[in-house]
Amino acid sequence: MSVQEYLDKHMLSRKIEDAVNAAVRSKAPDPVLYISNHMRRAVSSAITKIKARQILDSKGIPTVEVDMYTNKGMFRAAAPSGDLDKIYERSELRDGDKGKYLGNSVSKAVRNINEKIAEALIGMDPTLQSQIDHTIMDLDKTESKAELGVNAMLAVSMAACKAGAAEKEVLLCKHIADLSGQSGLILPVPAITVISGGKHAGNNLAAQEIMILPVGANTFEEAMQMGSETYYHLKAIILEKYGSIGCNVGEDGGLAPNITDFREALDLVKEAINRAGCNGRIKMAMDVAATNFCVGNKYDMDFKSPDKSGQVFKTGEEMAEMYAQLCTVIYFVCQTIQFVSIEDPFDRNDWLHTKAFTDLGLCQVVGDHLLSSDPKRLERAIDEASCNGLLLKINQVGTVTDAIEVAKQAKDGNWGVVISHRSGETEDSFIADLAVGLATGQIKAGAPCRGERVAKYNQLLRIEEELGEQAVYAGENWRSPEILAFTSVLFC
Ligand code: PEP
Ligand code: MG
Repeated sequence: MSVQEYLDKHMLSRKIEDAVNAAVRSKAPDPVLYISNHMRRAVSSAITKIKARQILDSKGIPTVEVDMYTNKGMFRAAAPSGDLDKIYERSELRDGDKGKYLGNSVSKAVRNINEKIAEALIGMDPTLQSQIDHTIMDLDKTESKAELGVNAMLAVSMAACKAGAAEKEVLLCKHIADLSGQSGLILPVPAITVISGGKHAGNNLAAQEIMILPVGANTFEEAMQMGSETYYHLKAIILEKYGSIGCNVGEDGGLAPNITDFREALDLVKEAINRAGCNGRIKMAMDVAATNFCVGNKYDMDFKSPDKSGQVFKTGEEMAEMYAQLCTVIYFVCQTIQFVSIEDPFDRNDWLHTKAFTDLGLCQVVGDHLLSSDPKRLERAIDEASCNGLLLKINQVGTVTDAIEVAKQAKDGNWGVVISHRSGETEDSFIADLAVGLATGQIKAGAPCRGERVAKYNQLLRIEEELGEQAVYAGENWRSPEILAFTSVLFC
């Protein structure tokens, strides 16, 4: 091919002339930079390469990371992983070779990406998220997605979403808002873990997480300051009462004093809120994760004690009575501090007690293990009014498109939606943008310490800064942020 033929084939002279003219018209201070950006935008939008690898999550357990290449650059994402045996969630793919990482390696999932998924996606437009996600889903016809592995699917789907945002030259949260038809960007109230228990810590507390919600802050940044200060007041209180051993932290960064009584845990947090001067502006919440200590139809409140010395079994009714007291007594004794949200107060199959407690209308009741982000279980729960909040863990559903759908399903039922981290996390902050883009008003991302937890909070700080005047913090509207969506102006 001659030089002239090459120039003609690619219409190079025309394209270069257009770019030079555009630079001249705009009087760009750096014309070379302007021309190079102009030319870059003219490049077609396509996935050119996908490369997956095994990395470690925050527990030191293997997980999947993906680098997706397009003509705009490289976009990286990693799948988180949780704790419970995953009977109602879609399946991760792990190698099972006990000689490597105790069976937890993910080399099969990595191979699935590098071979099957890459072959199907190369050449696709990264802005077309639902087409990409359907293509991935179609590669595995099983209900559980065990063949391809939900860990493989999710990491690719998240990377594509990041690539799509870059292609459109918008913030990731704005791209997600567009994909979901959401009209406003809302900064969520963080449910910050301050005490860890359950399977996430080595203390005797049966409940998994005690959280604080800075609903009275005016901005997300203020919320994080209130959360961090309260966390450090709590640390000082625990040090005074239980010594430095009580200041060890759990998997998600919460402090882990060796207490058993739920009320004692809430009282400690209440005192910390007081010391931080945040009375009434910070509410409290709890993830009981009661599935982990349900034995038959009773709850073993002492399930972690090796000698079972203080073994106390409670019935579902007794558990409900205890929760009701936590809500009402705290409310009446100290008008300004309230316990406003409870997650998995009963076993994942205990629909009866969950509904009976929800019917009391004392606080938000969130289904995590109960729902496992599964659309069918969610449909049942909405129909039967079993609870009124969805904990959305993206690795339970598999793709960004599925996550958007399940969030919509919950919102259509007038439910609250909490975007959630997993106990096995990575430094990927995708869920921060997801919470803002879907305007859920709530995010649970662990303590205000430990890198993989603050990665999400730090990204929310950046988003708030980027949105500037247009940033809207959910605050008191944390359960129904739609009200704010009308007032928020989209950042373009
Ligand atoms: C949870 O139960 O809400 C949680 C984050 O824990 P895991 O990721 O271990 O399921
Ligand atoms: Mg939970």
